[in-house]
Formats: sequence, C-alpha cells, structure tokens
Amino acid sequence: MALLYVIATPIGNRADLSARAAETLTSVDLIVSEKPLSSKKLLDPLGIKTRVLPVFAPGKRFAINPVLAALKSGEDVALISEAGTPGINDPGGVIVAAVRAAGHEVRGVPGANAAVTAASISGFPMDEFIFKGFVPHKKGRETFFNSLAAIESAVIFYESPHRIAKTLTALAEHLPNRYLCVARELTKLHEQSLVATCREVAALTETELPRRGEFVLILAPSGFVPQD
Ligand code: SAM
Repeated sequence: MALLYVIATPIGNRADLSARAAETLTSVDLIVSEKPLSSKKLLDPLGIKTRVLPVFAPGKRFAINPVLAALKSGEDVALISEAGTPGINDPGGVIVAAVRAAGHEVRGVPGANAAVTAASISGFPMDEFIFKGFVPHKKGRETFFNSLAAIESAVIFYESPHRIAKTLTALAEHLPNRYLCVARELTKLHEQSLVATCREVAALTETELPRRGEFVLILAPSGFVPQD
C-alpha cells in the first residue's frame, strides 16, 4: 500500500537532514513541498529529480487531488515544509488530514523543529508547555499578551524579525519579571540563545541581541528562577 511520508527537514543546518529522510526523499515518486524553490537547495545536492508540487499554489487549492491520485495509483508521496517539521505552523496538516480521511497510511520521518530545539536548550522545566504558534500581529494581539500572565506552564511561540522588537517590548510591559528564553537563528551561523527576564531582554542593545533572523521565544513557567 502506498504511503504518505511526512518528513522533517533542517531548520538551518543542512547536516541535520537525517539519513532516513534523505533515503525516503530519494525513494518516493512525488514530493509535495510548502516552498518548492527553497526545497531545490535541499534536493539538488542529493541528486533528487523527483517531481515537486507546491502544497498550496496561490489562487489554487491545496494539492490534495494530485496527492490522493498518486497514492491511489500506488505511488509513495513525501510531504516537506520550507523548514522543520511539516504541519507545525505551516500548511502541511491540511494534506495529512485529507490523506487520512481517504484511508491512506501516513508515516512520520522525524527531525528538526524550531520550538522543540529551543525548548531543549532553554533550561526551563519542560514537563508541560503550551505552544502558541505565531504571536498574533493585529487582531487579538493585546488579548494574547493579557492572557500570558494566567498561564503557569512554559509558553513557546514563534516570532518574525519584523515584529520581534515590538513583541519584546510588549512582553516587558506585561510580564517584566518573568524569565524568557530567546533562541535566534538556531543551527545557523549566527545562532544565539539567552535567558533573562522580559524586562532585561527588551533592554538589550542591538549588538547584544540583533533583532534579525528567525526567533523562538519561550516564557519560563511562572515562578521559575534560574539557579546559580
Ligand atoms: N515547521 C517549522 C518547525 O518545525 O519549526 C516552523 C515553521 S514556522 C512557518 C517558521 C517559524 O519557525 C519562524 O518564523 C521562526 O519563528 C521559527 N524558526 C524556524 N527556523 C528557525 C531557526 N533556525 N531559529 C529560530 N527560529 C526558527
């Protein structure tokens, strides 16, 4: 029976593509990618010439029909996102749901994920956490920040370089004394991670914490204080 493989790809460092991910990408008959152009950089060095379809083409629908047609005719399909684990804050989940609904089997090929990588280096207790995805940037933004104080567990969220400065300021206003882990450019050349209170983080200079690149922010569980 044909399979849909949901394959994690690197979030920066190409060496983080697992051997099994490379093997699976080589063996499938069709690859569905969130960003076919950026996937070329991953697939070309592996010599993979397999057909790559976009998960979602602007103005068109999700590539559900071609995926279901391929599976039905016995072809294995791989789903990849622009970076990291498909379906975690990217559109891959829609394809997975449709494939499941049609009765096909789905297998995961695990690997990089920005939230989990940041969680693992934060030093915060992570027995329980809430993942909020991207901070809302218009509607719901104020409600989002107001809701954080009542959450006792760690809270993980993603932020873009365009809004990171504003978000750090808002966190300092709402939760000045709560500890925050900022993980920037994970696995890349300018990787940086630090832990300080929200007020201290917002006061860091551009040299100490450039507001550029990709960010994961993790609020520590309430009451957490780093031990000396
Ligand atoms: N599916 C991806 C995953 O498994 O991590 C996440 C996709 S989401 C559209 C992209 C966001 O993840 C970025 O805006 C950033 O917040 C975070 N991110 C991705 N790569 C990162 C990296 N190398 N360092 C820090 N954050 C990263």
